[in-house]
Order: sequence, then C-alpha cells, then structure tokens
Amino acid sequence: MNILLLGSGGRESAFAWKISQSSQCSQLFIAPGNGGTNAYGKNVNINPNNFEAVKALVLKENISLVVVGPEEPLVNGIHDFFIADEELAGIPVIGPKKEGAILEGSKDFSKQFMARHGIPTAASRSFTKETLEEGLVYLQSHALPVVLKADGLAAGKGVLILDNTAEAQEELKLMLSGKFGDAGTTVVIEEFLSGIELSVFVLTDGDNYVILPEAKDYKRIGQGDTGLNTGGMGSVSPVPFASKAFLAEIERDIIIPTINGLKKDQIDYTGFIFFGLIKVNEKPLVIEYNCRMGDPETESVIPRIENDLVDLFIAASKKKLKDYKLNISDKNAATVMIVAGGYPGEYEKGKTITGIENVRQSLVFHAGTALEGGVIKTNGGRVLAVSSLQDSQFEALQSATADAARIYFDGKYFREDIGFDLIS
Ligand code: AMP
Repeated sequence: MNILLLGSGGRESAFAWKISQSSQCSQLFIAPGNGGTNAYGKNVNINPNNFEAVKALVLKENISLVVVGPEEPLVNGIHDFFIADEELAGIPVIGPKKEGAILEGSKDFSKQFMARHGIPTAASRSFTKETLEEGLVYLQSHALPVVLKADGLAAGKGVLILDNTAEAQEELKLMLSGKFGDAGTTVVIEEFLSGIELSVFVLTDGDNYVILPEAKDYKRIGQGDTGLNTGGMGSVSPVPFASKAFLAEIERDIIIPTINGLKKDQIDYTGFIFFGLIKVNEKPLVIEYNCRMGDPETESVIPRIENDLVDLFIAASKKKLKDYKLNISDKNAATVMIVAGGYPGEYEKGKTITGIENVRQSLVFHAGTALEGGVIKTNGGRVLAVSSLQDSQFEALQSATADAARIYFDGKYFREDIGFDLIS
C-alpha cells in the first residue's frame, strides 16, 4: 500500500525509517519531510495543516494509510476532515479525531477528564478573563512554586513555573490578556510537583491498546539539565527507574482509566497517547497528555520496536489491537539531539552539514535539515537526532554521544551528558 506520513521532524524521520522497512509499504510519501526523509520515501512539499492539499495528494498517489506525526493537524481536525469527505472516508488515519486530540489541545479539558475518571494528577483550578479576580485571590494563598499553564497549544512555551506570588499574579494577568493569544484565554493554575519525569506511550484503537517502550527526555539546553527549556535535547529508553512494578502501576492507575475514560465519554480514539508522567513518592502522576508521539522520545522508542510498524498501524485502524503482541528489544536506546547555535533562542539556518558518513554506531534521524542542490543544510533549531541501540545503556549513551561529535556544522551544539545521570 501507499502510505502518507505527515510531519517534518526527527520523530517523522524515525517513523519513516521504520515504515520503509515494512513489506506492506509500496511507496511512502512524507509531507513535507526534511533533508533526510527522502532516503525512505518521497518528500512532498505541502503543509499538513492545509487539508485540501493533503486531500489532493492522497487522491493523486492512491494513499491507503495516513500517519499523522505532529499534534497541530490533529487538534485542527484532520481525522474529522477525512471522515467527512466522501472521497477520503474509509482511508485510515493514525491519530485521533478532534474530540480525542483535545486531551492535548486543552489542558483545562484534560484536567477535567482526569478528575472525572480518577486519574492521579496535580491539584488545579482553571480561570478565565471573567474570573481573573478569583484567580488572583487563589494565587494569594497558593503554595510556591506554582505552575501556570495556558490552556491551548503554545508551541511548548505555555507553562510557567513561578516561585513568587506577585510575579505569578502578574503572569496570570498577562496570560489572560493575550500573552499566548487564544491559547491563554483559559489558564490552569496547578500545584507544583517535585519528582522525576518519564514518558509512557500507547497506541490505542479505542478499545484496546499496546504499550510502547517508555522513555525519558531531556528538555533543558544546558549540561546537567540547566538553562532554557527546548523541544528536547535527547532521550533514553528504557528508563532505569521505571521498574516492572512501577510500569504495572502506571498501567493500572493511569493507562486503563484513561482508555476506559475515553470510552465512557464516547470519544472514539485511534492513535497514540503520550502520557507525560512524574514519579512523586514512588507514585506516578500525569503531568500532561499528548495526542501524538514525543520528539525526541520517538527516536529512542522506534528502534526498540521489532514488529512491522505498518502491520501495527493497520491493526489499530481495524480495531484489532486486542492480543496484539508487541516485540520490544531488550537493547538500550539513546538519542542525542544536535542543535543550531543559539537555539532555543535566535539561530541561523543554511549551514552546511558534514560528517554524517563518519557516524559509526548510530542512526542519524534528520530533523531541521533541508537538501539544497545535493548538500544537506541546517533548516531549524533541532537539526539531527543521533540514536544508538546497544546492549547496555552505557554503550548506547557513549556511542550516540561519540557519533554526535563526528558531525559538524557551524555553530553546532549538543549535550554530552544525556542519560549519564541515570547510570548508577
Ligand atoms: P506540560 O506542557 O504540561 O508538559 O509542561 C511542560 C513541563 O513543565 C513538564 O514537562 C514539566 O517539566 C513541567 N511541569 C508541568 N506541570 C508541572 C507541575 N505540576 N509540577 C512540576 N513541573 C511541571
């Protein structure tokens, strides 16, 4: 079958790499893709949020499966668009409809969902412009630090952790008067949780689910997890502190109630659920839901999945995930993200990348790259994900880090400490 993958990041490169290995994939199209994805299929330069352009491509190339990488087209309703369109109806889309994507699209919705279904999470209350005064009073007696979250999608920038009441009150006012545009018309004020974070992923067909390998990502720009937040500087899978018993607790207290909650709320969900979790006093709590896979977690998760990914997607689209046996490699994966100098602040694009051919023991997943006249150039903040799969976690970390050092472009930066904190 011909398959269309939407997106352009390292996550999509990892999906494309794996999909292209499937015996069921005749031709893979990636829209828009990046400077590396054309190694696995054909890049088509259209915006995934332009649904009419996606439709034209699907019809032209006789696509029979669509896999959606990023959240935006899902929150904007691409799956609903397919269902409503006479010519597209029946073509399976991996990724939830709007009613499911709202788990990520609205933090207020997801908090209410968790409260309704008894899913452990931080205590919170939501406020709007109309209830600003109540919010300011609420903050007056709130413990510090306090977490303020813009309700909607804010490109990863909508979460503020503040340890001063006056500052938090000022931020609440700013957010409710448009600091994050429409994303901030509702603000969730949440208790700060102190613990260690991990990410757990499931693929669900709405009734059943498979649990994918768990991962941990590293969000800060600086060594030792310091400095500004980024889209993610690296990841590891498995996560050493996630014991079998802890993962079983996550399934019992969080995954199953979430799947059952979706059913109770009559939300028919086909696609990934990303559980952003935090371990506090040995217990897992949900920090956030995402309606898609994480990036750079996917680059560590996908290499550990031994099944045919297309087979898994077809099973999900046909509601046949019950008893689906996922084979997960015992090996350890580590991903080191190479970013442009200046990222996550201002950075330049168009730098020539060399040395990819010198990489010895890792997969190189392109993210912010473009192919210009046969030359690979930087085209984003997060440029390349270097992923290594090895027998031990130490070897995986060492080889991903050493291979990241073998690649060069002007201003290049990567963290040399990804995952080493987890090794005892
Ligand atoms: P979110 O977009 O909700 O995942 O938030 C982004 C990041 O902010 C998370 O990955 C956490 O590191 C941090 N964060 C969010 N909520 C909390 C919380 N209640 N307590 C502590 N840290 C939080």
